[in-house]
Amino acid sequence: MLKVAKFGGSSMADAGQYRKVRDILLADPGRKVVVVSAAGKRNKNDHKITDLLYLCYAHVQYGVDCTPVFDQIANRYLEIREELQINLDLEQELAALKLRLEAKNLTQDELVSRGEYFSAKLMAAFLDFQFVDAVDWIRFRMDGTVDEEASYELLRSQVRGKGVVIPGFYGLMPDGHIRTFTRGGSDITGALAAAALDADVYENWTDVSGILMADPRIVKDPLPIPEVTYDELRELSYAGAQVLHEGTIMPVREKGIPVNIRNTNDPGHEGTIIKEDFDSEIDPHRVLTGITGKKDFSIITVFKRGLTSQVGVLRKILSVLERHNISVDFVPNGIDNVSLVMPTEVIAPHLYKVLAEIQQDVEPNEIEVIDQIAIVAAVGHRMSSRPGVSGQLFAALGEAGINIRMINQGPDELNIIFGVDNRDFAEAIRVLYNSFTK
Ligand code: ASP
Repeated sequence: MLKVAKFGGSSMADAGQYRKVRDILLADPGRKVVVVSAAGKRNKNDHKITDLLYLCYAHVQYGVDCTPVFDQIANRYLEIREELQINLDLEQELAALKLRLEAKNLTQDELVSRGEYFSAKLMAAFLDFQFVDAVDWIRFRMDGTVDEEASYELLRSQVRGKGVVIPGFYGLMPDGHIRTFTRGGSDITGALAAAALDADVYENWTDVSGILMADPRIVKDPLPIPEVTYDELRELSYAGAQVLHEGTIMPVREKGIPVNIRNTNDPGHEGTIIKEDFDSEIDPHRVLTGITGKKDFSIITVFKRGLTSQVGVLRKILSVLERHNISVDFVPNGIDNVSLVMPTEVIAPHLYKVLAEIQQDVEPNEIEVIDQIAIVAAVGHRMSSRPGVSGQLFAALGEAGINIRMINQGPDELNIIFGVDNRDFAEAIRVLYNSFTK
């Protein structure tokens, strides 16, 4: 059994967290490949090392002395080393880095990648594991995508028998420069390592006990989701639930490797398993997997008599949006009208031009624009085989006096998406949560 275990920033934040990581690894000999983030926040008011590294780079660009910020970063790592009595010389590398930074002989990506690099160096020495640098196997193409075949081959050729620690978040460009993924990208490194080594499971250790059924800022103590399919996760993440970096799923899904989200601070909790399908249902009464959503959408509704019987009207409307490079999230329609739903910040800068062009190209009877709309998504693959779910859902909202402004159900019946006024957003989520978990 081979497990790739990725530890996020909060799991790497200080010496105490390093000890927890070690205990987690010792508890299961299958956890042989470890991917780490840069040190994260130790408490609410603390700073992530990655943020400080970006700040450091900005200092140099603006000709401001970066020493105080640089020292703060260096000290975080030196403190961990001292407290854990790790035998590793960091001073030389830190000094060389600072010289290159001040001489402007260092790219931003290379500088910020050092957060993960020093984390991994320290963790490898602490565990007495092999350190495998990300530049020695993650290969980007010139367009910034990862060359998976080449990368996998390289990783396989370097991993020897004992445990391995790999820094997350970065890799190498064909021109020899370091490139980072977008923020949160250590998740992708973990997924690539799991795929390269055909791991049995990709464990993603963070500071929450898996994915919750609803946002805990809205619902008090929401239940965790024990199992979720990749497709459901995609739906949940679209509408707000931020669990994993979006580039994470593809490499593991292709290889059929399940992902297990776990909590470093509560390792006894099983967390959430994400995979293609589940044979057994954990709780057949749990029709909804999760409820999520986002605020601040706009809806443009075009009314035109005979719209459904005319050829090409929809195309004309969508062409207008295409000309303005606007992607539409949902297109619910009626007999003589069609609505276009998208985030307000996307449409607002183009709104008047778009309306004028629709007016000109389609000659509608009326166009209506509403904003301050929140989208709520009720997600659950079990909904498709269960009649009455939407009845229960809309009845619950009706009883709570929440007005529904738009309804959209995908053909795969994986979700029911509806729009409510922004001000009803939190209440709609609470009402649904209560209705489906009782
Ligand atoms: N350290 C990087 C960030 O803060 C990458 C990661 O932790 O996944 O975004």
